[in-house]
Amino acid sequence: MNEILQVKNLKKYFNVSGGTLHAVDDVSFTMKYGETLGIVGESGCGKSTLGKAILRLVQPTSGEVIFEGRDITRIGNKELTALRPKMQMIFQDPMSSLNPRMSVSQQIAEPLMIYNVYRNKADMDKRVLELMDTVGLARRYVDTYPHELDGGRRQRIGVARALALNPKLIVCDEPVSALDVLIQAQILNLLQDLQKEHGLAYMFITHNLSVVKHISNDICVMYLGQVIEQCNTKELFRNTLHPYTKALLSAIPVPSLNKTRERIILKGELASPIDPKDACRFAPRCIYAKEKCHNCAPELVDVGGNHKTACHYVKEINGL
Ligand code: SF4
Repeated sequence: MNEILQVKNLKKYFNVSGGTLHAVDDVSFTMKYGETLGIVGESGCGKSTLGKAILRLVQPTSGEVIFEGRDITRIGNKELTALRPKMQMIFQDPMSSLNPRMSVSQQIAEPLMIYNVYRNKADMDKRVLELMDTVGLARRYVDTYPHELDGGRRQRIGVARALALNPKLIVCDEPVSALDVLIQAQILNLLQDLQKEHGLAYMFITHNLSVVKHISNDICVMYLGQVIEQCNTKELFRNTLHPYTKALLSAIPVPSLNKTRERIILKGELASPIDPKDACRFAPRCIYAKEKCHNCAPELVDVGGNHKTACHYVKEINGL
């Protein structure tokens, strides 16, 4: 078995005033051991809720999350607690995900204490220092507090906490978007090094396609709760098919003075994710929309080479 995670028809709906919000709507994908899956989309598209539903931080409405061959969507709290060390999360804003009253050593030791990993303090202190070394956080910061550190060092604490219990899967929820560009590169390099060293699988959630370009094996592009394009990363950048993904890609600056890329500015209103009608959710903003797009939701289908997309007119638009 080389699949660590299979997500099948996962849905997470919320009852809100005015109806039912379809935050995650029938999402399916697989992830392999030691690989990275990028989940990309604008804020509000459901990508963070998807990550939380997979980790059971929110209870899925329906569907299956099969982790290492076992459906974990219906397991009880005791089994879930036993499973938690294998599935961890790194959060977007390290300042708000860390406890301001706890020192670096206390923050990193917390998961070890919750799971009673060490019986004596000396062993735990040793492990904390090892984890600081692993994430490149100098030992002199061991007794400092989050507000005394910059964003990059705070995020290194988040990574150390996630690594503490030797996980196999880490959901990284926008882990670099609150950091400046130089620090972003450092944290991305760190995550890649740790992946090679520990064989970790990452689900990397981001609004920025360029962030996942060099670290993901596969990418799912989400729009209003649904996956609208899904394939190998190289294939996605070489052969972008869905009109929404093309618009996302056009926003990435080209690193050359001699080349330009025409920016596609999306116009039109976002469709409502509350009780969405049977239609393509991107239709109000799509320049290719026809009548069928407003009356019938396209399915995610393989158009060849395991490149899946949800668009009635994908062949016509791309001359396939
Ligand atoms: Fe655009 Fe229609 Fe394709 Fe949706 S189904 S992306 S509206 S052409």
